[in-house]
Amino acid sequence: MGYLKQIDVENFKSWRGKQVIGPFMRFNCIIGTNGSGKSNVMDALSFALGERAAALRVKHLRDLVHGAHIGKPVSTTASVALRYCDEEDREVVFCRKVTGDSSAYHINGAHVVHSKYVEELAKIGIVTKAQNCLVFQGEVESIALKDPKERTKMLETISQSKELAAEYQKKKEDLMKA
Ligand code: ATP
Ligand code: MG
Repeated sequence: MGYLKQIDVENFKSWRGKQVIGPFMRFNCIIGTNGSGKSNVMDALSFALGERAAALRVKHLRDLVHGAHIGKPVSTTASVALRYCDEEDREVVFCRKVTGDSSAYHINGAHVVHSKYVEELAKIGIVTKAQNCLVFQGEVESIALKDPKERTKMLETISQSKELAAEYQKKKEDLMKA
């Protein structure tokens, strides 16, 4: 299984200029005092996966630029690039750049339309349409308290098992007949 190796940020939220978050390992823990930017790491990740502004704790995408929270944005653009390492140690870079309130998506430096970006993310097992792919601050409890059927539905969407249910059923029936 592949893993996220590094996040390159530029003028995104608490990072001024070009900065590197990582390198990461397969399991990581981020620690820091209140307000030090731990949740901003999650925001950077979600932003690069295509999340809308509200989910990134801002009103407009332009508010993501470093300094915008105090009315002094350092630039008109901000970007986040996810350096993903696949099973064969090949790197794939998923990058989203915001200019004003518009977004542009790149894979390995080449511009792609949003649908293609989402499609390529799905190939490495990241289903952006499945909310709760990332569990944010305060959400653990709400997931634990979900109705069991709702929670199962959520896990089926994340794991994409719902789409394989018919094929699974057919294979099971074929085995029974054999
Ligand atoms: P807690 O432990 O309280 O959850 P945290 O480590 O998760 O804190 P974050 O919410 O990630 O902290 O970061 C908050 C910090 O990010 C604040 O200090 C805020 O000033 C800074 N910040 C947010 N948006 C911007 C921005 N656009 N430009 C610069 N700094 C920003
Ligand atoms: Mg936080």
